[in-house]
Amino acid sequence: MYVYGTYRQPKRILVTGGAGFIGSHLCERLLMDGHDVICLDNYFTGMKRNISHLIHNSRFELLRHDVTEPILLEVDWIFNLACPASPIHYQYNPVKTIKVNVLGALHMLGLAKRVRARIMQASTSEIYGDPEIHPQKEEYWGNVNPIGKRSCYDEGKRVAETLFFDYMRQNKVDIKVVRIFNTFGPRMRHDDGRVISNFIIQALMNKPITIYGKGTQTRSFCYIDDMIEGMIRVMDYETGEYKKESDYTKPYLSGFPGPINLGNPEEVTILSIAKKIVDICGSKSKIIFKGLPEDDPKRRCPDISMAKRYLKWQPYVSLDEGLKRTIEYFKKTIQTS
Ligand code: NAD
Ligand code: UDP
Repeated sequence: MYVYGTYRQPKRILVTGGAGFIGSHLCERLLMDGHDVICLDNYFTGMKRNISHLIHNSRFELLRHDVTEPILLEVDWIFNLACPASPIHYQYNPVKTIKVNVLGALHMLGLAKRVRARIMQASTSEIYGDPEIHPQKEEYWGNVNPIGKRSCYDEGKRVAETLFFDYMRQNKVDIKVVRIFNTFGPRMRHDDGRVISNFIIQALMNKPITIYGKGTQTRSFCYIDDMIEGMIRVMDYETGEYKKESDYTKPYLSGFPGPINLGNPEEVTILSIAKKIVDICGSKSKIIFKGLPEDDPKRRCPDISMAKRYLKWQPYVSLDEGLKRTIEYFKKTIQTS
């Protein structure tokens, strides 16, 4: 069993990008566990609907703010999630995407330094680009195109990681870096453009399922609840003294900042996910094939041995179960949107 470190002690926690898909689930979980939560968002891809059920909680605060501008707040922990995650959204204004990643990281790290807060960066499997190593281990440096259409996101996130480690070395900021692999679940936008939301909407509306390329490319999909638990365990991992070996259920590695992979190691082809979604929805949709976007990674699968070993973390929600829950959400929200 995993034993939490200081997580159970109430904290004031800032979540940037808190009105987005992952951010809203994180805010909800942190509130449920007794923390004060400040949700900061500029609503570029986030939605008020994602956090409207939290607004009446007296421990919840909402701030409309753009992370490319500095801000000063008194907080204990910062989760830095602000950044559009879907390729269509981050490619809409690539210069802004780089600013969000670089200026956003700088401003949040500056804040963490000033108020001595622990800070987590929501990094990504895109750090590995189109990987030549499979599955991807944290020590792999990646194979990233620096000048392509995905570069604003990939390179932006890589610079953010660099900034996090430089602030740690230069200013002793208490950092955590998680590399998130494809995550899915309720509250993904209908027009998000990512594969799971696209296929579910298409299947529910009996429209053609659009596979880019031949569908032989792979991804590994983690259900949102598992991802949130993983992020909390990384953040909670103490940066303290070496603990006794007999105390091994508590964090025992000194100063563990990451980067650490979080994701589901079950690797599936895009074609098989299309068939699965059509099947679960009982849809009449046909599968059609379209051109593959530039620099689309061919394979992606996390090696999560580090998370298993140090955090006693691994995903528990199967792809089928996660899809069923997500499809239920989309059914309800299609009717109300
Ligand atoms: P999302 O688009 O739903 O959420 C991002 C949030 O950031 C939105 O609420 C958006 O409005 C907000 N935002 C964007 N620019 C901002 C700015 N300048 N100032 C303030 N807020 C801003 O995406 P998500 O899937 O919830 O992803 C959250 C984080 O996790 C992102 O940093 C993303 O890169 C990372 N990530 C996600 C995945 C995934 O599969 N979902 C995978 C890897 C990494
Ligand atoms: N994809 C697809 N059809 C869609 C949307 C995406 O075939 O309607 C493919 C896309 O080309 C990629 C995979 O699904 O190979 C995952 O795409 P997504 O945008 O969800 O995430 P990412 O490429 O960032 O992992």
